[in-house]
Amino acid sequence: AVIAVIKERRAGETRVAAVPETVKKLAAAGFSVVVEAGAGLSASFQDADYEAAGAALAKTAKDALGKADILFKVRAPEADEVKALKKGALVVALLNPYQDRTTLDALAAQGATAFAMEFVPRITRAQVMDALSSQANLAGYRAVIEAAWAYGRALPMMMTPAGTIAPAKVFVMGVGVAGLQAIATAKRLGAVVTATDVRPATKEQVESLGGKFVAVEDEEFKAAETAGGYAKEMSAEYQAKQAALITEHIKKQDIVVTTALIPGRPAPKLVSAAQVASMRPGSVIVDLAVEQGGNVEGSKPGEAVVTANGVTIVGHANLPGRIAADSSALYARNLTAFAELLKDKEGQFAPDFEDEILKAALVTKDGAVVHPSLKG
Ligand code: NAD
Repeated sequence: AVIAVIKERRAGETRVAAVPETVKKLAAAGFSVVVEAGAGLSASFQDADYEAAGAALAKTAKDALGKADILFKVRAPEADEVKALKKGALVVALLNPYQDRTTLDALAAQGATAFAMEFVPRITRAQVMDALSSQANLAGYRAVIEAAWAYGRALPMMMTPAGTIAPAKVFVMGVGVAGLQAIATAKRLGAVVTATDVRPATKEQVESLGGKFVAVEDEEFKAAETAGGYAKEMSAEYQAKQAALITEHIKKQDIVVTTALIPGRPAPKLVSAAQVASMRPGSVIVDLAVEQGGNVEGSKPGEAVVTANGVTIVGHANLPGRIAADSSALYARNLTAFAELLKDKEGQFAPDFEDEILKAALVTKDGAVVHPSLKG
């Protein structure tokens, strides 16, 4: 079967769905790989290296798509790219299924069989394909780097002949994959780190990384975790109590990194304009949830907003795209592992739609949107 990899055309998307190393692996696994010329350039991967790894180069996306049995992408394909797909072609991408219904409908209308990488279940066997985690990890790292860059002071404590610089106080809100990496990165840079989350399991994780946990630990908190390990939406009462605690804490922070998400829901608002206003001038907030509506009042996708009291709210859309070589490499490995599921025991291209992972990730098939959470 032929796998096509084309250039990402979404504004600001620098990642690519295959890197030379994964092309080699896919070729060894029996796939032919066609890469659109220039597809990897924004992530620092050269055409010649794809060719050396065994890919054929296509001049245009259309040329690549015309041959493809399978399309690997980072983002959902554009409308004209969907139209260029062969009937029955497989599409594997971060389809943003809850927000981008238009593309799902277009894929269904084209007769494509589409898989959303976001829906790969969080079971042990699928960890190697977990694109949300691979990208969130790098986003968490990058968020702290962006904060450090925007912050006019140092993060570590420094004792110099000219005097001592106090360490920065970094507060991480939301301790999932991104938050954990943000804590680890801030610690490595020498900051004093605190963190909060609504899932009780995170307390121990924060402490094991050398951070201090800050949260209202009442009965609701102790019960707040879904079977999938994701956060639940908390009651208004809990949110009010937690907000009061955070109000006191946030005033004393230099850097706040917010990463809180609830699958399929808008991001919870965790930092109010008043809390932002309580921080001292020069403080920095990085809102990782900005594309899902934002955790911070006043954050704007793609912008660094400076408030009246001199607090910078950084709202980079697509933080993984700001570390494109590594995020592409990890995402491409996620896809390469996924490709293994598309073969039968003899190594022939024959997806087993009864496989637990394929079943969970499947969003369109035979002309319809089929995922249970997207029907109706
Ligand atoms: P996520 O991106 O959905 O959310 C980020 C964090 O925000 C979560 O920790 C969530 O609890 C938190 N949050 C939500 N609402 C909040 C609020 N009001 N206040 C504070 N925090 C709030 O989460 P994620 O990074 O995908 O990780 C979720 C969990 O799944 C983690 O425990 C992670 O370790 C686990 N996980 C398991 C597997 C696996 O078993 N294969 C793979 C990846 C992640």
